[in-house]
Amino acid sequence: MELACLDLEGVLIPEIWIAFAEKTGIDALKATTRDIPDYDVLMKQRLQILDDHNLGLNEIQAVIAELEPLPGAREFVDWLRERFQVVILSDTFYEFAAPLMRQLGYPTLFCHRLEVDGNGKVLDYVLRQPDPKRASIKAFHGLNFRCIAAGDSYNDTTMLSEADAGILFNAPANVIAEFPQFPAVTGYDNLKATFLQASNRALPA
Ligand SMILES: [Mg+2]
Repeated sequence: MELACLDLEGVLIPEIWIAFAEKTGIDALKATTRDIPDYDVLMKQRLQILDDHNLGLNEIQAVIAELEPLPGAREFVDWLRERFQVVILSDTFYEFAAPLMRQLGYPTLFCHRLEVDGNGKVLDYVLRQPDPKRASIKAFHGLNFRCIAAGDSYNDTTMLSEADAGILFNAPANVIAEFPQFPAVTGYDNLKATFLQASNRALPA
């Protein structure tokens, strides 16, 4: 039994916070973990900025609904789901991802959630568990699944290490250089081929 585990942002959809910052013109929302390494500090800052701009969940989802998956992503997901059970392991939030997941045909998504009040105000965020991508692969191994995982960035590397096969997809040069143990591919055609090679079954191309 084999699972295909995919990162979401940078693999199937654009980086949500950056795309959201561009759509709204709020440059302060472009800060990422590269600028503010402490994720809690970064998220608290993001929630404060949303509050300052009177952006609640309804407004946020309306903006995100205008975003689209990366070109070719839907076709890739459909291809993959014909050959593997597919699980998306992401550090985004269900409430943000929802409009994009609809465009991807609602594949299974394990991520985090937001606390929102009755007026749509975002009060806080709730991480599902520490090191969630690695923990998910460990749990799938406990269920006797072999796991092939693909992601594009630092927050994927523990998942790629834990998986039976890990693939860097459209990763930046510094990540590729730091993690030479993983094959690094670009483009969905190459990613498909790498999944087929990593599988222990004979699969149709
Ligand atoms: Mg990513």
